[in-house]
Amino acid sequence: EATVSKNFIEQEIDKDLAEGRYTEVVTRFPPEPNGYLHIGHAKSILLNYGLAKEYGGTFHFRFDDTNPTKEKTEYVQSIIDDIKWLGADYGDKIYFASNYFDAMYEAAIKLIKKGKAYVCDLSADEIREYRGTLKEPGKNSPYRDRSVEENLKLFEGMKNGEYPDGSKVLRAKIDMASPNINMRDPVIYRIARMTHHNTGDKWCIYPMYDFAHPIEDAEEGITHSICTLEFEDHRPLYDWVVRELEYKNPPRQIEFSKLYLTNVVTGKRYIKKLVEDGIVDGWDDPRLVSIAALRRRGFTRESIKMFMELVGVSKSQSSADYAMLEYCIREDLRLKANRMMAVLDPIKLIIDNYPEGQVEYFDIDNNQEDESAGKRQVAFSRELYIEREDFMEEPPKKYFRLFPGNEVRLKGAYFVKCVDYKKDENGVVTEIHCTYDPETRSGSGFEGRKVKGTIHWVSAESAVDAEVRLYENIVDEEKGKLNEDGTLNYNPNSLTVLKNCKLEAALGEAVKGDKFQFLRHGYFCVDEKDTTEDHLVFNRIVSLKSSYKP
Ligand code: ATP
Ligand code: MG
Ligand code: MG
Repeated sequence: EATVSKNFIEQEIDKDLAEGRYTEVVTRFPPEPNGYLHIGHAKSILLNYGLAKEYGGTFHFRFDDTNPTKEKTEYVQSIIDDIKWLGADYGDKIYFASNYFDAMYEAAIKLIKKGKAYVCDLSADEIREYRGTLKEPGKNSPYRDRSVEENLKLFEGMKNGEYPDGSKVLRAKIDMASPNINMRDPVIYRIARMTHHNTGDKWCIYPMYDFAHPIEDAEEGITHSICTLEFEDHRPLYDWVVRELEYKNPPRQIEFSKLYLTNVVTGKRYIKKLVEDGIVDGWDDPRLVSIAALRRRGFTRESIKMFMELVGVSKSQSSADYAMLEYCIREDLRLKANRMMAVLDPIKLIIDNYPEGQVEYFDIDNNQEDESAGKRQVAFSRELYIEREDFMEEPPKKYFRLFPGNEVRLKGAYFVKCVDYKKDENGVVTEIHCTYDPETRSGSGFEGRKVKGTIHWVSAESAVDAEVRLYENIVDEEKGKLNEDGTLNYNPNSLTVLKNCKLEAALGEAVKGDKFQFLRHGYFCVDEKDTTEDHLVFNRIVSLKSSYKP
């Protein structure tokens, strides 16, 4: 552990603690309840929670609900579920930014009294015009020099609903010539008659994000307010707000770069469209990377943590490969998930010389890489299912599986030799006939001859039926995320549904969320949404082949 070097945020925190700027670490995750959380948010959650834990501090979970139009209560529960699932312990206390509306109002009054804020009657367009550009300084508003008394009276009038929406705003009085446009007298309060889920119709004025956020942080005693890079230019304003409001030990903002995944869709706009068009089965469709979707697909929190550690924390913009996330779930499940036999595209295999009605059991390792995982008994009988692709009438060179006259090993059981096969009127193979050699029984130490192919199988008499869903990227990776017209480049093969799968009997006990390796096919998870008492649905989390090398 000591060999892992600290990221730049940890280095800043170390310095702050050493210099006595703070005596503890308090971080927060402040989502706006306007959508489902995605893998990018998971980075922020794990980072903030991880830092609080590492420094023996506190982690706050706060809904940033100062903007009533966009918020939906349906998202609130999903966000809570996701944060709990990720294991970010927030001490069961949820903070709400809207609980500080009174404090924010008082803060605005304080600024007015200090001559640091004024009510401005310019329209939104005029404000934009007066603001200037990167090359040109802005112009002072004609309302900038209103007296403290007049401002107090007008602001109170704003609060009391005396003016129509949009007719006046409260602005911070900073510097219209600042090279940083955010400092050119930013708007800090607007008039908007909107019902708020928490405060109802109490307020018809609402604070702007850049004013509200530092107050929320300061009120909660946050020390390190960690956010993404797009807020870097807002930091001077953040610092101005906490300084002018004279908070003791004010929080400091530190920015890191957002997590981007190559060729992965995270934008709300696109996902919303996929949901509305019925292309995906909701925000938790296993092809998406919302936290709910990743969980449903079968990713574990440990795999997501591992991924975040591999990606690291920095200020440089970069994009991580989805294959790296796949690597992490394979690593996490390698020893955790039992390895089972599942036939996804079944064809009957009949062992002509095996006694009808006889069932014997083989002890098969739950995990060849982990002896402590133990063994299980797997039933074997005259009729089995094997994968359709494990038989060929006319095999090419180097095909070592079943074909007429060839002998293979049935995983953990016997050698069988193909003696015949049957086809229907369309030429589709319907069953394969074999003979078995009792001397080759697994565990008997048989050395008489070798075979090149080993295939998996399921006993027909005890097989469990299941539906299995295989996934590809929801966008066509060859051509990238978006089409030229800006629409999503949807991959029509992103979902394959196999309805007729045959699984070994033990899988009949599986419950929602259980994860297994299906030999040769990959890692699978019992779907939590569509699985019912008599219909088992598995999602493929990831195949066994890796394109990522750590
Ligand atoms: P989105 O538009 O994707 O929903 P957002 O910034 O609107 O993102 P918020 O609810 O405002 O989402 O974000 C909560 C926190 O999550 C913020 O601190 C934000 O910086 C962080 N965050 C959002 N996206 C990412 C990302 N891709 N990587 C890391 N952190 C992120
Ligand atoms: Mg958001
Ligand atoms: Mg946001």
